[in-house]
Amino acid sequence: MNQPTQSCPSAATTLFNLPDYRVISVVHDRDASIRVVTVASDFPAACPGCAVLASRVHSRRIQRVRDILVAGRVRLMWAKRRLFCDETLCVRKTFSESTPQVPRFARSTARLKETLKNAVIDSGRAASEVATAFGVSWWLVNTVVVAAAAALPSVDLLAPARLGIDEHRYRSVRWLQDQQSKKWTRYEPWMSTIVDVDTGQVLGIVDGRDSRGIGAWLKARPTAWLSCIETVGIDPSAAFRKALRENLPDAAVSVDHFHLVLLANDMLTQVRQRVSREQNGRRGLKTDKAWAHRLLLLRGYDTLSDAGKKRLDDVFATDDPSQELVAAWGVKEALRLMLSATNPASVEDRKIFFERQVKAAAMKETDRLLATVTKWWPEIQTLLATRVTTAKVEAANTMIKNIKRIARGFRNPTNYQSRILLRSAARTVA
Ligand SMILES: [Zn+2]
Repeated sequence: MNQPTQSCPSAATTLFNLPDYRVISVVHDRDASIRVVTVASDFPAACPGCAVLASRVHSRRIQRVRDILVAGRVRLMWAKRRLFCDETLCVRKTFSESTPQVPRFARSTARLKETLKNAVIDSGRAASEVATAFGVSWWLVNTVVVAAAAALPSVDLLAPARLGIDEHRYRSVRWLQDQQSKKWTRYEPWMSTIVDVDTGQVLGIVDGRDSRGIGAWLKARPTAWLSCIETVGIDPSAAFRKALRENLPDAAVSVDHFHLVLLANDMLTQVRQRVSREQNGRRGLKTDKAWAHRLLLLRGYDTLSDAGKKRLDDVFATDDPSQELVAAWGVKEALRLMLSATNPASVEDRKIFFERQVKAAAMKETDRLLATVTKWWPEIQTLLATRVTTAKVEAANTMIKNIKRIARGFRNPTNYQSRILLRSAARTVA
């Protein structure tokens, strides 16, 4: 008859299910909800000095180890052995045992750390909430998350072909007082996000929104990595363009469609406000048709219903005596038309049409828009040819907004960046 080669684990050990550990007793603590579990390690004890296995026990010490919830909160005590190293060549005389679940110097199990990390990153819960749920400190949760971010595979192992760069403010504006001069300075905590626009993964987050942060990040990438980049989508920011020209001279830079339309809409709003001031000597009121339909003016004409088109015609017929509003609106629509062109010949035609509209409008606001479009024309051409937009970057920014909302603010930029990189990596894999 065959005999099992090892003893069958007890029911408690099977339930507790901590690899390499055996439960030797389970008792209620003073508080009935907390159990004390005492465990012993079955892991072979190898000396950290010489790696030779040891078996002669020097002493035992009870160590408290933080662990996951097992049918409620558990106070886990480990009867940890100190062993003699019998290897004569080894300088160590004794050592404390360690296991993969509780390595040297650790005071929490590996499975607890994994669970905490998943609760914050995969489930998107706030670190403080996770800490309360597991009865551990916020510091432990945060340390686990920051360590996991540091262990993420290097972005240099990825080979993205198309990048998107965008900026966002990571916390509200602060005023800082200089201790000596007593002068207050405005501090705008901006960060720039670098995203792989094909996968949507956030590859990097850098401080600020000037060319230095992005430039330094790109300089840190290997040459082969940089040579894979074909196009980079940015919003119309001269700082980003400068950083790209210096560090990615061969990549085509594309400017984002959404931000260009935004510029045209801002122009139209400026004209509407100026016309209202000039005609009525005041800002717009509910009773002014142009003000009442100010959002209708900004919508694309092709997306309007027949009723919407009628209302718009009515605005131009009754609340635009100088016809400046309709001229500015025509410029905005001409830009949108140009941006929706799908072949080089129609781009050229529509650009001429746009320029003619600007010339006919003859206003400083429309001239300024044309100047910006001219300045960014190479990047707009790249957009029209490749359609690399920062839409994926915007999606990443939405995720970032959620992280900020759940955490109710970050004081430490490193914690903030760790959350974003990890959550983005987790989402990309999922
Ligand atoms: Zn040894």
